[in-house]
Amino acid sequence: MSKSFPDVERYRRNESKNDREGEIVRDEIRNLLRQIPSMDELLSRSWVGEMEALLGREAIKSVFADVIGEVRRRLRMGDEEGIDVEGIEQETCRRLRAKAYSSLRPVVNATGVVVHTNLGRSVLPREALEAVVATGERYCNLEYRLEEGERGHRSDHVEWLLCQVTGADAALVVNNNAGAVLLVLSALAAGKESLVSRGELVEIGGSFRIPDIMAFSGTKMVEVGTTNRTGLSDYERALTAETALLLKVHPSNYRLVGFHAETSREELAALAREKELILYEDLGSGVLADLSAGGLEGEPTVRRCLMDGVDIVTFSGDKLLGGPQIGVIAGRSQIIDRLRHFPLLRPLRVDKMTLAALEAVLRLYLQGREEELPAVRMLRLSGETLRRRAEALALLLAEALPQGLFDVVAVEDAAGGGSFPEHPLPGWGVALSLPTLSSGAVQRRLRQVSCPVIVSAEKDRAVVHVRTLFEGDEALIVRALKEVAGKGGNGLER
Ligand SMILES: *Cc1c(COP(=O)(O)O)cnc(C)c1O
Repeated sequence: MSKSFPDVERYRRNESKNDREGEIVRDEIRNLLRQIPSMDELLSRSWVGEMEALLGREAIKSVFADVIGEVRRRLRMGDEEGIDVEGIEQETCRRLRAKAYSSLRPVVNATGVVVHTNLGRSVLPREALEAVVATGERYCNLEYRLEEGERGHRSDHVEWLLCQVTGADAALVVNNNAGAVLLVLSALAAGKESLVSRGELVEIGGSFRIPDIMAFSGTKMVEVGTTNRTGLSDYERALTAETALLLKVHPSNYRLVGFHAETSREELAALAREKELILYEDLGSGVLADLSAGGLEGEPTVRRCLMDGVDIVTFSGDKLLGGPQIGVIAGRSQIIDRLRHFPLLRPLRVDKMTLAALEAVLRLYLQGREEELPAVRMLRLSGETLRRRAEALALLLAEALPQGLFDVVAVEDAAGGGSFPEHPLPGWGVALSLPTLSSGAVQRRLRQVSCPVIVSAEKDRAVVHVRTLFEGDEALIVRALKEVAGKGGNGLER
């Protein structure tokens, strides 16, 4: 360009002036940064030793480097004027401390939700954990038939047990129920049509959606009926030469009320037999035990479904079954055999420790000892037992924290895991108030103590539900609340 406009000239002059200023600023920053001790010097601080033993030297270096990098950026942005070496050390130490101790750790579940997905779903009985240790610390016959000295299959260890407790002819175990659904649909209906009621096209949560998993499996989803009513004739009308499978889905934590109807298992089973189709039901929770003692009725057991004529069912191991995270595929052996060599079985296979835990849990069912499964026991607790426990806890808390207010209250618990959503599960709890702390603050602080306590909130009070407490949890709650109250509430904290 031959001629510059005056504005541009002025801009250029300013720019070079800014450059010069920039240089001065950069020099200042460089001088400030020189005040930061060298990495070697920082690493020789006395507090570093303890952290180094837990996390190793490289991790400490990288966190120091992160913190110093942030200081450098703030200096450049003009957000910070000087160097605070002590502040750098404190921030590094704080971050290291947060990483130094187990990230995955026990918490007290005081929510009253028995199968709580965010809190690890089912708690395993001692026998299952002993089996995990015994299997994990030695070699084991995971895929080895001891009698024949030949290669075996890992599902062999639990198949017979699963058949005994469900009434199925055959069974397979995979990593989780979502995987079981994918495997069944891929192996039995890919490239073919699967009929499913519009009332069962549900999302289970955690982004598991029936239409998505069907599409992913390669089966062609054919929707039948309406959202609220689907009759046998809806299925019949949708049949084509390409139909391979009738899919029934347990709607989990979603229920239709009012004017609605679904087609019974018996009707669907008769249709499937007549047309030589597979009737497959994704049951979700996999109830094996009778839970009516706790007032929970209406969820079909796995045995019931198979007796009603369903060919294949899938369900989770860590929902109401009360075991480890697995997915079970159970049903007619002819169909299960078609799955045994399907390539997707390999990426979904179960770990030996999980299988050990599952075997122990299934043996408890076989022996009629399902009461020893925490989930089953908690669901069967009577209102009277819960009320007495809540009263004892309230007394204990009142004694330990005279400044607090502790009321025994009736609460609503839940089975969780997508089961019995319409079933209020009456429970008892203790509502907590501590001076100067809002219920939100109590909840938040209880999550941040050494053994976190997860409580619910009702009518702006933090509430401890006693149904989901284990023996010894009361003492942990007392300790946690003392920590919470001890941190001092100066002024009302929201
Ligand atoms: C929970 C559930 C699943 C998914 O099971 P995961 O164990 O979470 O993999 C699938 N279908 C139904 C009906 C469920 O309730």
